[in-house]
Amino acid sequence: MTARIAPELVSDELLSLTERLGRADRDLVILAEGNTSELLADGTIVVKASGSSMVSATASDFVAVEVEPLLEVLRDPDADQERLTAELDAGETNGRRVRASIETLIHVAVRAFAPARYVAHTHPTAVVSLLASIHAETSFADAVYSDELMVLGRSLYIPYAQPGLELGRLFLERLGQHVEQHGETPSLILLGNHGIVAVSDSADGAEAISLMAVKSARVRLGALQAGGIASLGADVTAHYFDRPDFRERRAALTGTVR
Ligand SMILES: [Zn+2]
Repeated sequence: MTARIAPELVSDELLSLTERLGRADRDLVILAEGNTSELLADGTIVVKASGSSMVSATASDFVAVEVEPLLEVLRDPDADQERLTAELDAGETNGRRVRASIETLIHVAVRAFAPARYVAHTHPTAVVSLLASIHAETSFADAVYSDELMVLGRSLYIPYAQPGLELGRLFLERLGQHVEQHGETPSLILLGNHGIVAVSDSADGAEAISLMAVKSARVRLGALQAGGIASLGADVTAHYFDRPDFRERRAALTGTVR
């Protein structure tokens, strides 16, 4: 068992971020959708438990898990869902079984490449609309306005896989390829027919990335209604990433210190 109940490890920042992302008017998640995590100094992550709602989550709705043993599960081709379920089981409290979210592997896989403090996974209606469309794979490939480029950076698209081991393995593989190609962990990862993952070293940054992803999706949906998307194109945007002032503002907005 690599998961344990440890409400004393749940920070106010993590609780606040989770509540903010869970607000109904933001339309990022409903019911028990979505999960957040925070990486602690000793390599433990605190991640939302399965079945609890983000908007009303308290410290008892989170579980502490060790990153390394779960990475081993992800990398073990013989590992099965049963083993994963056992690893995520944190035991019982007040007669209730507590288990880390089945999507914990997403949070673990990000930390295989970067010590990002916060990871926030949500299912925003506007973004999932695009990710469930025929435009899913290419919808975020090119920026359509410069502010989204600044906050979202170069995003990564990962096609649909069943949450659990299947998604965890694909996520680890595709994220590894992205890091190799671009030399950085993406701020935004798009999961086909599923949702988004925001990666940041600050809670405000994770929130900013999530909200900008929603705005970007709405802009695209509007452009599609107006006849089609005219993106900025790589020749226009490529040099942005080389500009120190752009990188500085991007770091400030997204809470990225890497
Ligand atoms: Zn999800």
